[in-house]
Amino acid sequence: MAKRLDGRLLAARHEASLRASIAQHLATADDPPGLAVVRIGDDPASGVYVRNKAQACGRVGIESRIIHHPATASQQEVLESIHQLNGNPSCDGILVQLPIPPPLDARQLLLAVDPAKDVDGLHPLNLGRLVRGEPGLRSCTPAGIMALLAHGGIALDGMRALVIGRSILVGQPMAILLQQANATVTVAHSRTRDLAHHCRQAELLVVAAGKPGLVGADWVRPGVVVVDVGMHRVPPQRQGEQGTLRGDVCFEAVEPLASHVTPVPGGVGPMTVAMLLWNTVQAWRLRRGGVVGTDLAPLPR
Ligand code: NAP
Repeated sequence: MAKRLDGRLLAARHEASLRASIAQHLATADDPPGLAVVRIGDDPASGVYVRNKAQACGRVGIESRIIHHPATASQQEVLESIHQLNGNPSCDGILVQLPIPPPLDARQLLLAVDPAKDVDGLHPLNLGRLVRGEPGLRSCTPAGIMALLAHGGIALDGMRALVIGRSILVGQPMAILLQQANATVTVAHSRTRDLAHHCRQAELLVVAAGKPGLVGADWVRPGVVVVDVGMHRVPPQRQGEQGTLRGDVCFEAVEPLASHVTPVPGGVGPMTVAMLLWNTVQAWRLRRGGVVGTDLAPLPR
């Protein structure tokens, strides 16, 4: 039976460490770290994610604010609010909540964010730094996964890894971080032939396809490490029950075969939020003359 890579537990430890770090640096800083989330439209899932991020900020001592534009907002209106945040000294981090409703141009909005405040790590400058292995703000989900793998004691050096998905948000930066940790990385996507064959070769599987239950027991080799990035809302089955989340992996089928697996919920999701907090604190310190690192600070196991 696989060991669970527990994102909730690790995220809680990171929160404790960030809380202490903020309290310590507040002695010399004028203001606490500030995060602004730019939300456009009323996508309900985005509403939940934005609320979760704001609550996490509150737990560690980051001041958060949500700038909520209607779905009818123009590109210029959203750009103006980003420019204002760029110039606002009490704002250290800016996150543009994805997805952006059409016809707005997400690329242009992400490009408008000051790279020093780009806590989602999606500005081309920070993506370039990632490719070059230079210090910078890293995209939250892949960076959170790297922290989870490190915490699980997974030795990536020489490992055969398969990343399913090639988005700028998850798949691409994930593949780069794994390569930098000396894994041998294959990237699969919707045009990959015989995905099952590639999966069976892999010693580490990172599944970020956005397809519920894509990977089942017959696609994995015994002993594989499985990271499930997928997040799909399952509505409540009966009245009075709460809905839940499921991933891209058939958890119950894969858990008996794998050596390690991330649950959904409670795996990658909390680490994504933890990394957002970490990036915001890094940006805050950097703007006050500190140095930004490339990884989450090491924590006790
Ligand atoms: P995305 O932009 O839609 O990208 C999906 C990628 O998967 C694409 O590269 C696509 O290939 C590939 N793909 C789709 N169907 C496939 C299939 N049947 N076989 C192989 N590859 C396939 O999605 P994303 O933003 O990367 O997110 C992926 C999933 O992760 C979603 O469920 C999202 O909700 C979740 N997510 C979770 C977190 C978290 O914190 N837990 C954070 C971010 C995202 P093409 O390039 O060929 O189209």
